[in-house]
Amino acid sequence: MDIRTGFGYDIHRLKEGSFLLLAGEKVPSPLTEVAHSDGDILLHALSQSLLSALGLEDIGTYFPDNQEKTKGMNSIDILNFALAKLKENHYLISNVAVDIVLEKPKLSPYKGQLKKALSKLINLPNDRIAVHANTSEKVGPVGEGKAIEVYCQTLIYKN
Ligand code: MG
Repeated sequence: MDIRTGFGYDIHRLKEGSFLLLAGEKVPSPLTEVAHSDGDILLHALSQSLLSALGLEDIGTYFPDNQEKTKGMNSIDILNFALAKLKENHYLISNVAVDIVLEKPKLSPYKGQLKKALSKLINLPNDRIAVHANTSEKVGPVGEGKAIEVYCQTLIYKN
C-alpha cells in the first residue's frame, strides 16, 4: 500500500465581524477572518495538507491572493480542487487531524458541528476526523486575539 502524510498550516488576521467561517459553517464570533477569499482558514489548511501529501504546490500558487478572480472565492472550490487532484492520482483519505488555535470565542461547543461539516465535505466518516480547539495562552498575535491559526495533518493512501 502506498501511504503518504500531508501537512497544512494557515493564519489569518482577525477583524470585527459577526462570524468565523470554518469548514463552510458560520460560527458566531465578534471577530472574523481578514481574507482575499472567503477566509475559510480551516479549508485552506486542509486543502494545503492534501496538496502537500501529493507533493504538489501550495494553494497560493494555484489560487493567488492578488488576483481579481480569487476575490471572495468560495474555499469549498479550493478544497474540491485538492480532492480532484487526489482522485486524479488515485488516492483516498485515511484520516484528517485539525487543530484550530484561537483565543476567543471558545470553539469547544462547535467542534462536533465542524467535524460533521468536514465529514460531509470530504465524504469521510466522523471517526476518521479530529477537530481540536486550542488557545495560544494569551501570548503572541493569536493569544492577543489578532489572528487565528489552523494546523492540519492528513494521511492518504492508494490501494
Ligand atoms: Mg488562508
